[in-house]
Amino acid sequence: GFKCGIVGLPNVGKSTLFNALTKTAAAQAANYPFCTIEPNTGEVAVPDPRMKKLADIAGSKEIIPTRISFVDIAGLVRGASKGEGLGNKFLANIREVDAIVHVLRCFEDSDITHVEGRIDPVGDAETIETELMLADLESLERRVEQTRKRATGKDKEALAQLPVMEAVIGLLNEGKPARLLLKTLPPEDVPTLKSLNLLTSHPVLYVGNVAEADAATGNNYTEAVAKMAAEQGAEFVVISAAIESEVAQLPEDEAKDFLDALGLSEAGLDRLIRAGYHLLDLITYFTVGPKECRAWTIVRGTKAPQAAGVIHTDFERGFIRANTIAYEDFVGLGGEVPAKEAGKARDEGKEYVVHDGDVIHFRFNT
Ligand code: GDP
Repeated sequence: GFKCGIVGLPNVGKSTLFNALTKTAAAQAANYPFCTIEPNTGEVAVPDPRMKKLADIAGSKEIIPTRISFVDIAGLVRGASKGEGLGNKFLANIREVDAIVHVLRCFEDSDITHVEGRIDPVGDAETIETELMLADLESLERRVEQTRKRATGKDKEALAQLPVMEAVIGLLNEGKPARLLLKTLPPEDVPTLKSLNLLTSHPVLYVGNVAEADAATGNNYTEAVAKMAAEQGAEFVVISAAIESEVAQLPEDEAKDFLDALGLSEAGLDRLIRAGYHLLDLITYFTVGPKECRAWTIVRGTKAPQAAGVIHTDFERGFIRANTIAYEDFVGLGGEVPAKEAGKARDEGKEYVVHDGDVIHFRFNT
């Protein structure tokens, strides 16, 4: 599955947010079980209002959403790249995630100590980014000589890695994260960048954690973070971890009233989960029948056989074709049969790139 790592300085609200995520998921019906994989990892359902419409039309008994994982990565402080705090353990945890959710303190509260002694979310972001960049630079400088030698010996992997490594070292020396390279790198070289296992090549979503009173409007701190995120091409959401942890304990109808009273249209966690999904460049296709309406996650650009492989490896191995109806056609025309009658069900082959919202039946040999 896909994993978002939650990072941030101590006392910014990471655990509060993580616990709210896990509690919300646990409080949902049996369809949304929260499962703890490790103490700091939780799987959550990705909210998708399309599923209810599909299930209503098809009379599906059950709705099974797709999920992503969040990992609470504690222990990052100034000096982590030199082994301060939980240092190396922390860095190893970050390498394993697909995206970073970076929580920044945008609330004032004299009872809660700030490790750096001041509220400055943009400064906090730079503190953490600097540690990650230093760790990447150190790791690359350790490896690049070896790669250079192997490249001289015409080693294929090294020949592909060397120019990417050198470009990243150049960026890091200018104080810029490796993920900026994603903007200019040809798509075929992206896996090479990923193979370098860096900390700053992951896409980033900033979360501005605000006091209850600022949840609907944001504040001066979140404005500064929004500006920084825009400059970096990173995503940004404003959330009040304190509100989320209260909402997480309420039944659904009361949660809605509570949010309404605060001027919020939906739970911040839903926005966070969706933003994480978007950050990972993930899309959803559906399988819909009388038994269940189910969402499946693939990376944008995945072709039909590999998309089928997410359901079962046999589906990929024996793939024949994918009978596909776009979500809009399925819902707009009133279901599978009318969509077929209107000629909106397409038979697609091995080269078909699956679209977000496709309702698919796979045909395969066993
Ligand atoms: P972590 O170290 O980043 O995991 O931070 P925690 O989630 O443990 O939060 C540190 C402290 O800040 C706890 O006492 C939280 O209750 C408190 N806290 C978290 N979010 C907020 C917030 O939005 N407003 C206020 N006033 N306190 C908060």
